Order: sequence, then C-alpha cells, then structure tokens
Amino acid sequence: MSLFTTHFKQYERIPNESQSCSVDQCSNLPNSICSHCDQHFCHDHSNEHENRCNQTLRHLTETIDKLSNRITSVKPYFLNNLQQWRNESYHTIDRYYEKKYYDIIEKKQIILNKELDDLRNQLITEIKNEWNEINHDMQIIEVKLTELEHLRLTIRPLIIEDNLVTLQQLFPLPHASHTIHLKSGNESSIGSNEKYLLVEREGKYLCLIDRNFVIVNEILFDHNDIHSIFWSSSINRFIIITFKKIFTLENTMILEECPIPSNIDWWRGTCSNDTLYLSSAEWGSSIYEFDLRSTFQFVKTWHSPMTCERDEIICDLKYNNGFLGIPIFNKHKEQSRLDLRLLTTLDCIWTIDIHGRCRCCSINGDQWLVMDHDDCRFFHISADGQLLKIEKYEHHQRLEDVTTWNQNNIVVLTKKTINIHELH
Ligand SMILES: [Zn+2]
Ligand SMILES: [Zn+2]
Repeated sequence: MSLFTTHFKQYERIPNESQSCSVDQCSNLPNSICSHCDQHFCHDHSNEHENRCNQTLRHLTETIDKLSNRITSVKPYFLNNLQQWRNESYHTIDRYYEKKYYDIIEKKQIILNKELDDLRNQLITEIKNEWNEINHDMQIIEVKLTELEHLRLTIRPLIIEDNLVTLQQLFPLPHASHTIHLKSGNESSIGSNEKYLLVEREGKYLCLIDRNFVIVNEILFDHNDIHSIFWSSSINRFIIITFKKIFTLENTMILEECPIPSNIDWWRGTCSNDTLYLSSAEWGSSIYEFDLRSTFQFVKTWHSPMTCERDEIICDLKYNNGFLGIPIFNKHKEQSRLDLRLLTTLDCIWTIDIHGRCRCCSINGDQWLVMDHDDCRFFHISADGQLLKIEKYEHHQRLEDVTTWNQNNIVVLTKKTINIHELH
C-alpha cells in the first residue's frame, strides 16, 4: 500500500512537447508530477519513483523511531560515576550523623553510666556507707540525665552547591603528567592502541612506548617522513603512511609493506572497521578507499570537488563512528575549516572555521579536538560542530600531532617531546 496517498498528481494540462520524463534517457511524455521533488515522470517511471519515495519515507520513519527509543533508554557513560558520587555522599552524611550522635549522646551516656557504676560499687564495698552522699550524687546524675533529655540542637540545613557535579572541561588542559623527550623527523605523527604509543624518532626509528612511558621496542625505519600512524583493530596492526609506501606494524615490531600503488603521493590516513582511507598530498586532494578485510584491495576514489575545492588540501583525516573528520586548508583564504562528513557519501554534516593548518582527533565520543600547527592553539568542538573553547598551548616546540590514549589521556607530539595530559 502506498504511503503517499496524494504523492503523485496527474497532469491537469497537456504537457508541452519539449518536456519529457525526468529519468535520464527516457523520451516518454510525462503523465504525472511528484509533489515532493516537482519532477515529471512517465507512467512506468512514476511507479518506480513512487516506490523509491516510499522506501525513503519508510527509512526516515524507522530512523526517527530508532532515535526516539535511543533517547528514552540512553545511559550516558558518566552515569556510574554520578551514582557512585551519590552513594559516597550518602555515606558522608551517615558518618557525620554517627559522629554527632556519639559526641552529643553516646559520650554522655558512657560518662553517666560510669558514674552510676561507681555509686553502685560504693554501695556494695563501703563498710560505712555514706548514703547521704550517694543519694546526693545520684540526684546530680538524675538532673544531668534530665538535661540530656531536654537538650536542644541548632541544626543547619545541608546546602549542596550546584557546582559539585559539572561537565568535564577539556580546557585548560592539565599540565603534562609525563613528558617523553624524543626528537622527531621533518614530518611526524603519533598513533596509539590500548597498550602502546607508536612514534617515529629522528626520522630513522619507530619506537613503541608502553604505559610506563618507556620505549620498550625500537626498529630502524628509513622510508621517508611519516605522515600518519593509526591503529586498526580489525587487522590488529598499526598502519603507517609515508609519501610513497604504506606499512603495517604488529606490536611485535614486524614491519610489512602493503600492496597499495605508489603512483600517488600519500598524505594522511585513517580507518574504519573494514576500510582504509588515504588522502593524497596535492591541492584538491582525493580520498582513496581500500578494503582492510581483503588485503588492501582498492575500493574507490573520491575526487575534488566531492572532497574539497581545487585550491584546498586535506590536512588530516580521522574516522569516528560512521563519520570522517576532515580539516581542510584553503590556500587563497589562508584559512582552514573542519568538516564532518558522512562516511558513505562524503556529505557534509557541519563545518566550522579554524585558523591555520591543523590536525584533529575525536574525543569524548563524538566531540573533536583540533590542533592548529601555525598558531599553537587547540579548539574543542562539540558533536554538532559548535566551538566550545579555544586554548593557547604554551610550548616552544612546533606542534606535530595530537591523539587520545584510552579515555583519559591526550597525547601531544611536538618537535622534541611527547606530552601526556591526563584528564580528570
Ligand atoms: Zn519525487
Ligand atoms: Zn520515463
């Protein structure tokens, strides 16, 4: 059954002869017009178009329903922390209550009981009982007890400040908790997996750095400058992009060259679960796709202007949750922008202006951290492309690359150091 009951209307007038069906290479005269896209269709193609419209509508409706369910059942990552904070706060109140109860009541009970015990002992042990004295002391205990019964407290309500729980701010970046001194080559890049950082040293070596910030393994690497390093969990290897060659590297430091053509000058790269994306080092950069599951078979190429304009270059390429984050530099405006593109069509979801040439990484799920090489600044961008904050990065070395290491570390690669900033 049709979802659009009034989707197509028949022509009310005879179409003029110059008009034919909107479908490519169909010369039939149209007999209907689509009320959504205003295109004309012949009898055969109107059915086909209506089916496609119905499919699209069904898809959109289903997606809205799915999103609605997700909104209803959303369980943010921080929920555990918030619940833990609540339980700990309850315990703090319990402990405060118990301390006050002890100070005001229990302590006095203990003293009065002790005094009463003394009197009892006196009564038993003293040969020559001094009953009057005991009676007197007993009355003192009694008035003290009455006093305790009628004590009044001043209790102030517990005021909970609103800023006890706030959203984590990325900036100002906490001071580097670790700095590894390591000189990089001309161009450089840093990659991470769960256990290690992989970085190039002096344009000659590849170094694997572990969680204790120690170089645990190092091999000779003399294949030009490294433009990108990133981890692919589907092939369980780092992928290393140089100008002409692409390599993979296991944690065991076995280096292999990928069967990817070297007639293109490669620049940046990233990967989804099953696809490797490479950008070319040229104005009007292209993006090439290769299949990771079938030994790097070529899939397709996206060219300018789908990727960027002729006077623009792709400065970085980062995959995240079905999208590509693409900083693009325009040589005439001398300005960059960060585009978020849909992986399947390269459609632009949002774009935001940044100053100079930059690199980026995703952070906190779907947010972006953009590093401006030229200006030593960081931009924190929200998931919907809004600028959250800008921070100047106080460092005398040129900034090379930025990445995250698990949830809590931001790793900044400069010309001479690797700075690890631990987020709290
Ligand atoms: Zn239509
Ligand atoms: Zn037709």
